[in-house]
Amino acid sequence: MSRRPENSDERSPKWDAREVGCSALLNGYAWSLQHRARVHATSVDKDDGPFVCIGCNMDVIHRRPYHIRRHFAHHARVSPIDTSRESWLHHRCKTEIFYALQDAHPRGNWICDTRRVIRRRKDDKINRQPDIGGRIGRQPLVIEVQRSSIGIRQLLARTADYTAMGITILWVIPLTEDLGTDLFRPRLIERYLHSLYYGRVYYWLPGMGASVLPTHFSPAVRAVPFRTNEDGHWNDAGFYNKPYKLIRRPNAYGGTIPIIFGFSPHERSAFLPWGETQPLPPARLWQDTLFPWWDKHERSKLLSSYPEVEGSDGDDFDDQFDD
Ligand SMILES: [Zn+2]
Repeated sequence: MSRRPENSDERSPKWDAREVGCSALLNGYAWSLQHRARVHATSVDKDDGPFVCIGCNMDVIHRRPYHIRRHFAHHARVSPIDTSRESWLHHRCKTEIFYALQDAHPRGNWICDTRRVIRRRKDDKINRQPDIGGRIGRQPLVIEVQRSSIGIRQLLARTADYTAMGITILWVIPLTEDLGTDLFRPRLIERYLHSLYYGRVYYWLPGMGASVLPTHFSPAVRAVPFRTNEDGHWNDAGFYNKPYKLIRRPNAYGGTIPIIFGFSPHERSAFLPWGETQPLPPARLWQDTLFPWWDKHERSKLLSSYPEVEGSDGDDFDDQFDD
């Protein structure tokens, strides 16, 4: 299995800004922890690191591609999706869910579009085949398995199309391995899905059959060194915790839940996720029936315990609840 390193291939600073959700590096500046100074990418080398982003506090790397000017790029763990061209995982996810649904609910008239695995379609028309489609009672349902190549535009278009047809949609993200609980940076598409489904995404791992693992992205903090000035001398005084703007801690539900029994249809009106540029259309969601398993005030608690941090209010894409 080939996995494309997320930050080392030839991606432009603009792509990085949009995907990560922070444009603070576009001016070429980052913070050098070593020099304790704001530095420009054209005047330093990677030996001047480590560097962090002034806008979001994430680790950044210094890049010097041969064809564009030197710049900084965000650098953080991302979820282990399958980025290979063949996308074996996409195929496995689709077929495994399909056969498990057929077994569990044979009257669902399930279909599975395996052709798209071989023949990638350029158009994205409304009459396209869903990855998996069927019925639960009178409720038409499609399950779309997120593939690495899908962009936000397609996500929005498909969600809008199915909703307009009265079809309920479940977006599933297949992973090659368990995400674990270490900090990570949600991808753009994960951020949108997390907002869409009221603060969780649905991950799937090989062997889960027709079940998924709902996962919430909890806020996280970074230890930032600070100094005090006594009698004109600066002294290292330890660390304080600063909430990350875009880094999260995976907070998975206690176990997997079955797509048929653990969900119900839910109408959601159009909205613009916080900090994003494109609104989500009205959506007819196949939504789990769980109570939130995280502390709904986790973010405000975190912020209130670090009141000295400036500009951290509103840095959130989690607060999309309509309770
Ligand atoms: Zn940043």
